[in-house]
Amino acid sequence: MSEIVVFGHPSLKQKSTNITSIDDYIINLSKKMIKIMYEAPGVGLAAPQIGINKNIFVFDAGDGPKVAINPVLEKVSGEIIFMEGCLSLPGYYWDIERYEYARISCLNEKNQQVIYEGDDLLGRVLQHEFDHLNGKLLLSSLKRKERRNALKEISIKGFPGDQI
Ligand SMILES: [Zn+2]
Repeated sequence: MSEIVVFGHPSLKQKSTNITSIDDYIINLSKKMIKIMYEAPGVGLAAPQIGINKNIFVFDAGDGPKVAINPVLEKVSGEIIFMEGCLSLPGYYWDIERYEYARISCLNEKNQQVIYEGDDLLGRVLQHEFDHLNGKLLLSSLKRKERRNALKEISIKGFPGDQI
């Protein structure tokens, strides 16, 4: 059974807090998150999606698994609309408008200061996972009417695997 929590879970709406030391707990957490992300499968996973409100996310935009701890969104530019989904909203996809390029500075699991930056999928994943740490889901990026329709659809259909 998946450990990923879905829309409606309180941890998805909470702002996460910074990690004060990269100890064994955090290293193990990052390994566990990478495993869950690949099993899902997905290209990114943020800690709130497994019920932990700490500022850490993992992703793999085609370049191997990466860990972002206490990320700061440093720069964004451009604009692009792209079909996007979320492991916490399984089975749903919407056209989401985002910045085309994003740059994040953070620590990795080795306590090194690193920069992740890019456009296309990478830029998108960085923004998506960063949003999770701020308690933001895809739904909040939708226009009012679209959001209303999405919420209605979810309330009727639920998520794949839900008990009806
Ligand atoms: Zn997501």
